[in-house]
Amino acid sequence: MLRNKAYKFRIYPTAEQEVFFNKTIGCSRFVFNHFLDKWNKAYEETGKGLKLSDCTKLLPFMKAEYEWLGEADSMALNYSARSLDDAFKRFFKKQNKAPRFKSKKNASQSYSTQILAKNQNPEVLIVGDVIKLPKAGFVKIKAHREVIGRVFKATIRRTPTGKWFVTLVTEQEIAELPKTGSVCGIDLGRKTFAIVSDGTLYHNPKHLAAMEKRLAREQRKMSRRHLLAKARKCELAEAKNYQKQKRKVARLHEKVANKRLDYLHQVSTEIIKNHDIIGIEDLGIADMLSKNDRKSNKATADVSWYKFRELLQYKAEWYGKQVVVVARNYASSQTCSCCGHKHKAVKNLNLREWTCPNCGTHHDRDLNASYNLRNEAIRLTVGQTEID
Ligand SMILES: [Zn+2]
Repeated sequence: MLRNKAYKFRIYPTAEQEVFFNKTIGCSRFVFNHFLDKWNKAYEETGKGLKLSDCTKLLPFMKAEYEWLGEADSMALNYSARSLDDAFKRFFKKQNKAPRFKSKKNASQSYSTQILAKNQNPEVLIVGDVIKLPKAGFVKIKAHREVIGRVFKATIRRTPTGKWFVTLVTEQEIAELPKTGSVCGIDLGRKTFAIVSDGTLYHNPKHLAAMEKRLAREQRKMSRRHLLAKARKCELAEAKNYQKQKRKVARLHEKVANKRLDYLHQVSTEIIKNHDIIGIEDLGIADMLSKNDRKSNKATADVSWYKFRELLQYKAEWYGKQVVVVARNYASSQTCSCCGHKHKAVKNLNLREWTCPNCGTHHDRDLNASYNLRNEAIRLTVGQTEID
């Protein structure tokens, strides 16, 4: 099956290329905002917005009126009009909010551009340590892995810390992974990141926890400096100590997010490889609150669990496996995986081990939960095939 896959690499533009990238980001934003404004006005007057063809017809006139647009990558400007059109399409399908004007102040600044057919072969696009980007020419790249498929889109992004990245979107044939015949359940935990019913434990990486602690500390320092600047009635943009700390926090934040995502990728890939059907709990906000008593860890755990499930689901779809999300009201921790007895006392989070009063089986809290999720996944998938 043909799938889109994205590859993200760090790029190292020259000073001149950096000027060009920044210009194209600005021009793309200008085009987007310009058409959004026109769209809104047309909608007010006629009850109908603009069509993509309206925008592409107007673009040459716009370029004549605003000459400086000619300095940008013209394909990126086309893309900008297209992304506005896409945003409205998603909006009318109720998939997202109405498009809003783009701001210079957003943390991440980017533009997307189309890769011409003659450059879509990765071997033509990336040669050695350079990538050929529309109008920017050859840009130094650190391509740490091989790009497979036809590259049709590139997004150039500047991070808040001033680093540059390119994301290449490809279309490629993805082969399913061999079936293993295994079904598993995964319990997501506090101390251990995930417990698989086959006994595999995935711990939260220690170096990551240390980095997160440091990040929290630096964030507190940043808010102190914010308050100090305010007390001195100093404009934040002028407050040097605050700005310095803000950059430091942004850099650290970037590092932690990348490391965490790497880890989530590693765990999800391994699980998808080893199992065909994967049962996982449907974590609602309330469950997350009860699973996390320590406030500081809460936000990161929430984001990680959500992201982890997302990764599992798309990888399962790619590789011909199945993720079964078990209903929220299913008491995976409180049910005895041997006899099905529900033991209310297990609600107490400090109870790490318990013995079933009905059948006498001694349980590890999380492992028992993962067994239950596995059983539920089997029950639900058997039900499905019977209906089919
Ligand atoms: Zn029991």
